[in-house]
Amino acid sequence: MSDDLVEPEKVEITYETEEPVLYEVKDSVAWITMNRPKFNNAQNGQMTYALDDAFQRAVNDDAVRCIVLAGEGKHFSAGHDIGTPGRDVHKEFDKRLMLPGHTNKPAAELLYTREQEQYVGMCKRWREAPKPTVAMVQGACIAGGLMLAWVCDLIIASEDAFFQDPVVRMGIPGVEYFAHAYELPPRVAKEFLLLGERMPAERAYSFGMVNRIVPREQLHEEVEGVAAKLAAQPRLGAWLTKQAVNQVEELKGKSSAMTSVFHMHHFAHAQNDLTSGSSTAGLDAKAMAKEKKKQAGE
Ligand code: ZN
Repeated sequence: MSDDLVEPEKVEITYETEEPVLYEVKDSVAWITMNRPKFNNAQNGQMTYALDDAFQRAVNDDAVRCIVLAGEGKHFSAGHDIGTPGRDVHKEFDKRLMLPGHTNKPAAELLYTREQEQYVGMCKRWREAPKPTVAMVQGACIAGGLMLAWVCDLIIASEDAFFQDPVVRMGIPGVEYFAHAYELPPRVAKEFLLLGERMPAERAYSFGMVNRIVPREQLHEEVEGVAAKLAAQPRLGAWLTKQAVNQVEELKGKSSAMTSVFHMHHFAHAQNDLTSGSSTAGLDAKAMAKEKKKQAGE
């Protein structure tokens, strides 16, 4: 057994933007917009910390009474960054939770430390924001993208939106923030995960995973309308109300379920590493797309 620290891996990172998240306050509503449309808003560390800054800013500003989380461009989110030039797994950021740096940790400890903070920890933190939040979802909401939509109190989607968690192809039982079996009935969650197929907004709506569906061209207006109503509710009342429902989910074991599945997730990462030398079984964005075509018989 080795507990030794390692030399952080040097990987070239090219960020295509210095503004991976846009922030705007309009009529008491903070609009937090993921801004990597070129990469379908793939979430790298740079974006994660910019999102955290934006949520913190919205919480700090008493004039903000509601928060909207949106994605620039064609899609809400393609999920975690597994293959853009801005992929920054081996970069250290100022931690927001009580966790050590990850880049100098050996083997499975690196990802375990990073994902505690950047994925599951951050998502739990944003879910607890003391103001109502709305996810505005268009196009793809895949894997890591699900986590971002799910932490919001309401989800409003356009007709063309779809949801998918295909990580079983990597041998992994769902993304880090394992809310699948809370967002969907158990058998539907199993189908969603085991087949890894796209779930159209309409079907997600039928299970209550999505609150409203509107044509794409009306999405912004619809969200604006709902956000305005949320912003007009009493501040403390809105906070207590969202906490009340979150608390019921906690009584149903949401956080502890998530913690236990997070460890399965990391067992799978470690198994991948041991068998293929890659925690994602060598499936980067390109390989995932190829695999998908193969499955579709194309
Ligand atoms: Zn992971």
